[in-house]
Amino acid sequence: MTEGSNKSKGLFLNSNRREAIRSTLGLAVAAPTMLFAARAAQGADFASGTEGKCATCRYWGGKRRIEQGGGTVSADGTGWCNNPASPAYQKETRPDQGAPVWTRWEALDG
Ligand code: SF4
Repeated sequence: MTEGSNKSKGLFLNSNRREAIRSTLGLAVAAPTMLFAARAAQGADFASGTEGKCATCRYWGGKRRIEQGGGTVSADGTGWCNNPASPAYQKETRPDQGAPVWTRWEALDG
């Protein structure tokens, strides 16, 4: 082998390594962005009088807040169902899911 061919082999390996690092960095940046977008897409608003949905159920353990004025519940992502009487008990549900055993969230009263 000549010195020239060793150099070009080394360049080839460096090029592959550089490409692998570039791909890994691309994934590292893209993955959290995609996760954020997916979570943002799950956010939803519900009228506070909505019945039968996890977003307004006293047993739902998801992230939610009552908007000023109390007319709307804004919910993001999924949450645990904490109602032992529900078929979804100890499972994660979306705010737009529900169960026949739904019970109004007390925070919405008053
Ligand atoms: S699954 Fe039913 S009981 Fe459980 S949090 Fe949702 S509405 Fe409430």
